Amino acid sequence: MLRVRPVLTYVEMHESVIAEERISDIGLTKDELQRYSRHLIMPEVTAEGQKRLKAARVLCIGAGGLGSPAALYLAAAGVGKLGLVDFDHVDLTNLQRQILHGTKDIGRSKLQSARERLSDINPDIEIELHECRLSSENAERIVADYDVIVDGSDNFATRYLSNDVCVFAGKPNVYGSVFRFEGQTTVFAPQLGGPCYRCLFPEPPPPESVPNCAQAGVLGVLPGIIGMLQTIETIKLIVGIGEPLIGRLLHFDALKVTFRELKLRRDPQCPVCGENPTIFMPIDYDQFCGARDDASVPGISVQELKEKMDARDSFELIDVREPFEFEIARISGAKLIPLGDIAERADELQREQTVIVHCHSGRRSAQAVRLLKQRGFANVYNLEGGIDAWSEFIDPTVPRY
Ligand SMILES: [Zn+2]
Repeated sequence: MLRVRPVLTYVEMHESVIAEERISDIGLTKDELQRYSRHLIMPEVTAEGQKRLKAARVLCIGAGGLGSPAALYLAAAGVGKLGLVDFDHVDLTNLQRQILHGTKDIGRSKLQSARERLSDINPDIEIELHECRLSSENAERIVADYDVIVDGSDNFATRYLSNDVCVFAGKPNVYGSVFRFEGQTTVFAPQLGGPCYRCLFPEPPPPESVPNCAQAGVLGVLPGIIGMLQTIETIKLIVGIGEPLIGRLLHFDALKVTFRELKLRRDPQCPVCGENPTIFMPIDYDQFCGARDDASVPGISVQELKEKMDARDSFELIDVREPFEFEIARISGAKLIPLGDIAERADELQREQTVIVHCHSGRRSAQAVRLLKQRGFANVYNLEGGIDAWSEFIDPTVPRY
């Protein structure tokens, strides 16, 4: 018989996001000592860590696929105040992944259904419901009451909004997103040295290029895994243990069962967390995410690019995304020159050659095309819709993100 001797190792500690004075008045009842006994016996948590959890206030944006596991485990873990923002009603198509809700809840408000389930799991915690859409008008006021924000939103406008208000308020934003069989998570916390969402994605993709779960599908258990990873990060930030996922993006592929970690860079030019920020209050995110680029840049469609490739035409394909995006997905034959380096490295390209530039959605590459034209490139084109359109219409084996 194989015997494995348990080895107890002490994990690395970091500073808790809960200030020491917040736990000085907090005690644990006899019931709580029993309820959380599996936490308390770990030397990394103890009563001290459990008191931090009890003092903590966590906001889940969305009570859907990511918010369900997050809220369930945060309640079970004893987070003292759990806030939920959602405006939706439970629908039959939700139940394949949104395990906070049951069949009996169809047609009910998600937050009422969530409250019932969560207070059954843990009647000792406070549950605060924000039955509304998170908006530029209410977001700063709502976020102000919480220590950590778990972003379980499913659209770009809300993601940029939650990112921006968290940066303004100096609160960690635990990010998660899912698409079909893949998901990713990270902790955005410029105040703790990492980048923010805008550092990675300075501009949103064109609205019509982004399918949601309803259009593209998602394996029901996938948001479960990503939402639970967000919960683990949240608990670590509160208890003050381990290495937070700051400056690192964890990508999970359910079909291959692989976790890949990508280093994230902070963008000194970032308009919200950079050295010279230009955005200090919430903007109009619907307009920001719906706004299209002007058409002063010569473009080429993904179908035309495919024809050129098939005809073995001579051209150079330049990818101006960031190295971490290049690691996620690439078009075969493309050369990586991130947008920030293109001015410096333009001489690596021949001016008489046809140059096709692409990014994720076509916005950054449009900027690169303008820049190259200023530098004397005559035959330079923007790949419309970027690698995302390439993946959607030409080569579905290229991962979308
Ligand atoms: Zn930033």
